[in-house]
Amino acid sequence: MAPGPVPPGPVDAAGAAELLRGASGVLVLGHVRPDADAMGSAVALATAVRRAGVPAVVSFGGPDPVPAPLRMLDPGGLVVEPDEVPARPDVLVCCDTSSPGRLGTLAPLLDRARATLVVDHHASFTGFGTHHLVDPHAPATVTLVRAVVAALGVPLDATLARALFAGLYTDTGGFRLGGADALRLAAELVDAGAEPGTLLRGLSGTSSFAWLAALATILAGARREPDAVGGLGLVWATVDAATVERFRSEVPSAVGHLRATAGDGVAALVSEISPGEWSTSMRGTGVPDLSAVAARLGGGGHPGAAGVERPGPVEDVLDALRGELAAQADLDGRALA
Ligand code: 5GP
Ligand code: MN
Repeated sequence: MAPGPVPPGPVDAAGAAELLRGASGVLVLGHVRPDADAMGSAVALATAVRRAGVPAVVSFGGPDPVPAPLRMLDPGGLVVEPDEVPARPDVLVCCDTSSPGRLGTLAPLLDRARATLVVDHHASFTGFGTHHLVDPHAPATVTLVRAVVAALGVPLDATLARALFAGLYTDTGGFRLGGADALRLAAELVDAGAEPGTLLRGLSGTSSFAWLAALATILAGARREPDAVGGLGLVWATVDAATVERFRSEVPSAVGHLRATAGDGVAALVSEISPGEWSTSMRGTGVPDLSAVAARLGGGGHPGAAGVERPGPVEDVLDALRGELAAQADLDGRALA
């Protein structure tokens, strides 16, 4: 049977592979300020597409550059600057991206591609693009990409394995989520050449000594509101624009310290990513559902980890957050009762 065009709508890994194989060229994007799942899934997918004989490059929309430590996942140099991408890609792929806004400065490409395949695992996926390989139960986008790589008939090698492992490790919180399937995939990737020790050391990067003082200042400014989130409590801290600018790769890690003190409550790191624009990174147990909280504020994510960008002043950002967290705690509390 001659392969016809893949009809728009939901696709499985085989359908995604068919769409990619039939492309004259593929541009793979991940979300702005990529994490290891966005970078790993985009690089792994483009690597496999190239091996299947179709030209492919990767890019990430600005305004911020790709964090330097993630570059190690791209030994082949598939990632190009946003101003170097093809103006009219045949097939556009958006990895780990729940809404068009998450493509940053590259979002206008959505109107110029012949087809747009979204590969994502966010419950907050908004339904953009022509073809969707979206599974909110997947612990990471790389698990979906792994299936597409297999459907393309491309065997794993060390480059693919490293990129996939990095995303899997990060989005499962070091295998706290994802169950036995995630661990089985991890074993397959280690067999194929991913070395967790080397990889994770490289991904955390090296920080300047000055980061210790900056982190101390951020954490010294943290506040705890025990009555927030319907009594579960909120721990939050802010990061000013100068610190974000100077320690771009390090700042996101600070939310882990807040989370460690938040108990059953919620941790929030509120960073001024550009003058007057604040990015909030939230962590919790999954109750209340932070992806619902973030979605109502204009962002997205997962029940236990979500984020949103909003204009300041920062007091307004915090007030909106407090309001939505309390409302969601009330909703989820009722659902549990
Ligand atoms: P992080 O806090 O690590 O930046 O992100 C946690 C989760 O929330 C990730 O799945 C990430 O994609 C999502 N997320 C973070 N910030 C935003 C945002 O501004 N908008 C949307 N839609 N999702 C976000
Ligand atoms: Mn992800």
